[in-house]
Amino acid sequence: MKGRSMGFPTHRLRRLRQNEAIRGLVRESRLAPSNFILPLFVVPGNKIKREIASLPGNYHLSIDCLVEEVIAARDLGISAILLFGVPETRDEQASNAYAPRGIVQEAVRALKSTVPDLLVITDVCPCEYTLNGHCGIIRNGYLDNDASLELISRITLSHAEAGCDMVAPASMLDGQIQAMRHVLDTHGFHRLPIMAYSVKFASKLYDPFFKEGTQSTVAFGDKRTHQMDFSNSDEAMREIALDIDEGADIIMVKPALFYLDVVYRAKQEFKMPLAVYDVSGEYSMIDAAARLGRLDRDAIMMEALTCMKRAGADIIITYFAKRAAELLHGGERSAHVQRELPRQELVAK
Ligand SMILES: [Zn+2]
Repeated sequence: MKGRSMGFPTHRLRRLRQNEAIRGLVRESRLAPSNFILPLFVVPGNKIKREIASLPGNYHLSIDCLVEEVIAARDLGISAILLFGVPETRDEQASNAYAPRGIVQEAVRALKSTVPDLLVITDVCPCEYTLNGHCGIIRNGYLDNDASLELISRITLSHAEAGCDMVAPASMLDGQIQAMRHVLDTHGFHRLPIMAYSVKFASKLYDPFFKEGTQSTVAFGDKRTHQMDFSNSDEAMREIALDIDEGADIIMVKPALFYLDVVYRAKQEFKMPLAVYDVSGEYSMIDAAARLGRLDRDAIMMEALTCMKRAGADIIITYFAKRAAELLHGGERSAHVQRELPRQELVAK
């Protein structure tokens, strides 16, 4: 009726919350294993599966063990991985990043020949391969943008030639998507998509990744001259617009949880395929709190991942991918693990 409030008691929103079957019908955001990208760390050697202390449940894997890990992930329905290399040696020019027989290049070839249906995405950034841990060429203490673009292009081409399915540039250099698109297209790789780390904030949430994941903490300075100030959101939209202009196929916001406002805004403004990177610090916080008995690991994990989707993420890069996929295989009920209070719920009217 016009002019008259149709509020309580006509409307009782709790009617659609009274049990899991009803909640399942009206649920707006759903996770699936096909949303996940599992980050993996490959190291030289044989039969190496070394747990990363700061990322329990994640490992440094030699190629043979990497293949096993990927098959296990694929059997859980995860169809994409993001590959990081931890090389034997590093130098000023990051030459192992683009070496035809570099660790990532060899791993890509091994994966594509044994698990061809798996999507192999490679991280393109020199920082795991430089002596100083920086994301490019340093001149006079400053990251030289255009000189680093040449390096990024070389790495990109070497990954494409090894046979990767997608490249993911992480260094936040100006013009990097354009440079990568150009080198790919002029070498016949026009079908290779680019997932751009369009908005990568200069965040301390990456510490567990660099300290123990890739062991490439910066030797001096920090990354605030290229990664974004975490105070800014308008600037994040400008970064995304430029990446789309330069040819990005998928855009990304990194980290995820502290930045869901940026994720929401990016989805609303650009309507592009959108990835979030649920980074090592986010994983560590939940894992550590669970170890202290303060939080329920599975429940918090599913809540966090679902909220990323609700905010607008289509794709979630997460160290939780395998465990979350396992729970999702148990059906939606097992994924919505806060099911231990049925009696109180049924009483509600
Ligand atoms: Zn980097």
